[in-house]
Amino acid sequence: MDALLTLSSPGLRLAATLAAAGLGALWGSFLNVCIVRIPRGMSVVRPASHCFACGKRVWARDNIPILSYLLLRGRCRHCGARFSPRYALVEAVAAALAALIFWTFVVDAPGEPLGVRAARFATYFAFAAVLLVLSFIDLDTKRLPDVITLPAIGVFFLAGFAVHDVSWSERAIGAAAGYLLVRIVADGYYYATGREGLGLGDGKLLAIMGALFGWKAIPAIVLLASLAGILVSVPVLVLRRRREAAAVPAVSPPPVAPVSIRKAEVPFGPFLAASALAYLFLGKLAWAALMRVLTGE
Ligand SMILES: [Zn+2]
Repeated sequence: MDALLTLSSPGLRLAATLAAAGLGALWGSFLNVCIVRIPRGMSVVRPASHCFACGKRVWARDNIPILSYLLLRGRCRHCGARFSPRYALVEAVAAALAALIFWTFVVDAPGEPLGVRAARFATYFAFAAVLLVLSFIDLDTKRLPDVITLPAIGVFFLAGFAVHDVSWSERAIGAAAGYLLVRIVADGYYYATGREGLGLGDGKLLAIMGALFGWKAIPAIVLLASLAGILVSVPVLVLRRRREAAAVPAVSPPPVAPVSIRKAEVPFGPFLAASALAYLFLGKLAWAALMRVLTGE
C-alpha cells in the first residue's frame, strides 16, 4: 500500500499517469456535451448523447472517448452522418492535460502530503476542464457564458484553500484585479472609439484565474495572451483579406474597406486559457528564473 501511495516504482508511476489520461478522456466526452449544450441553454445530463442527423441514441460501446471516433471513422453507426473531429480533439486534449497535471502535481511532487497532491490534481484538472469548455464556446459563439464563469470564480477561490499554494488575500485581490483590469480597458476602449472591443466575459475569465493563482499571475497571463493573440490574429486577418480580395470578380470595383484589426473580433478567451495553462505548468519555473536573474545568483 505504501508503494502504491508514494508511487515508488517507475512502472507504477506510468500506470497511474495512463489511468489519469483515461479519466481525462472520459471527462472530455462530458466536456463535449457542455460545449454544445450550455450555449443553447440545454441540460448537460438529459437526454443521453444522440446523433444530430438521425436522432438515434449513441450506444455506450460507441461512446468510448477517442477510440470510438477512430473505429467508426467519425461517422454515426446508424445513418453514417459525419461527426466533427473536434469531439475527438477535445477528448484527446482533456486526456493530455489530465496526464500532465497528474505527472506534475502528484507524481513529480516529492515531500507533498498525499491530500494536498490529490486536491491539486482535482482542482487543476477541473480548472483546465472549465478553460477547455469556455475556449470552445468562445470560438463558437464569441461569448463566455455567465452560467459558467460566475460560479467558477467562487469555486476556484474556495479550491485555493485546499491547494495550499497562494494566500487567500492574494487570491481575493486576484479575482477583483482580473475583472477590473478588463473592465477598465474595455470601458476606455468604448469611450475612445464608441465601440465594444473587449468583452466583459474576458474579465470574468481572468477573475477565475486570479481567484485560483493570485494577483501575481494576472500580468503574466495577460501579457502572454496578448502576444499569442497578436501572433495568431495578424496572419488570420491577412488570409481573410486575401480571400476577400480573391472572391471579388475582376470587373467589379475593388473592395472599399479592408478588414481592420478592431473589427476582426478574434475571440480572446482561448488565448487567456492557453496562457493560464502555461502559467500553471511553467509559472513557478519562470518566476524562479526571473528572480535568479534579478538577484544575480
Ligand atoms: Zn445518425
